[in-house]
Amino acid sequence: MQPSWKKALQSAFTNWQELAAYLDLPEDALPVISPKRFAMRVPISFVNRMKKGDVNDPLLRQILPVSQENFIQQGFVSDPLSESAFIEVPGLLHKYQNRVLLITHPACAVHCRYCFRREFDYTANTQGKKDWQRAFEYIRSHPEVDEVILSGGDPLMHNDSTLAYFIDALDQIAHVKRLRIHSRIPVVLPERINQSLLNVFENTRLQKVMVIHMNHPNEMAEDVAWGLSQLRNNHFTLLNQSTLLKGVNDDVAILKKLSESLFLHGVLPYYLHVLDKVQGAAHFEVPDDKAIVLHQALKSATSGYLVPKLVREIANEKAKTWLYAE
Ligand code: SF4
Repeated sequence: MQPSWKKALQSAFTNWQELAAYLDLPEDALPVISPKRFAMRVPISFVNRMKKGDVNDPLLRQILPVSQENFIQQGFVSDPLSESAFIEVPGLLHKYQNRVLLITHPACAVHCRYCFRREFDYTANTQGKKDWQRAFEYIRSHPEVDEVILSGGDPLMHNDSTLAYFIDALDQIAHVKRLRIHSRIPVVLPERINQSLLNVFENTRLQKVMVIHMNHPNEMAEDVAWGLSQLRNNHFTLLNQSTLLKGVNDDVAILKKLSESLFLHGVLPYYLHVLDKVQGAAHFEVPDDKAIVLHQALKSATSGYLVPKLVREIANEKAKTWLYAE
């Protein structure tokens, strides 16, 4: 029998007219487009957290393809982080000294319009199970690598058995100590956090970190909170990274509420990224001076441990770059 998360994935909205009808949105008020690449995709659970009739809903804004995506903006490119330069073997990026990133799955449960990998060449970096041996061999021959990041796309799009295959392989490489999973699925498809998935992580010797990706407090919901509690019970350290997005979370009260909601559910606000300048996402950009003012106001408004680091990722830099000396 198909698991419920797969059914939920299959019933995700991919047609904006259907989404508009479901949310009582006036179609003529939306400058929507239907892109062939990186088409709209959003699970119903996430849609149910949007406010009906509100064309400016901050969750809707993150997933609705709009005409501004077609504007050409200077400085916005297809691979803003030059990731392709760091691919050592297919599917493996080695940019930072102690950690490698595996592009384990080409797809996501949701298509975030600001995604810096929206133009990534997943075809060239997608492979079957046996092809991953080259990546494992690369890690084995690099003793400085003590952490492996499963990324994508979204790694939790894999079946449990494939995830178990990755974890078993990494478990056997003695110098790997930590497994980090970057996934937006706990937020957008909470059905995925089920007992069978938790069993996959139960017996690994690796320390487990999951970085979820929540941008707005309205993304928290009862089933999301339940999934987070299960991950915590399974000994995951939970961190959040957000992207600062114009018209979504560029407001100190929203950022404060987001941090408080995350912490209430055992997630530490970790990074607040400024937008990576990917083609098609310029309408989400918050200027650096505004980002700094917001961040300073957040520091004044709440406890230090609820203030994520304000960072930018710069191609070819060996670590994230702080926007200002904090
Ligand atoms: S879930 Fe992450 S990788 Fe996938 S589209 Fe959204 S931001 Fe990009």
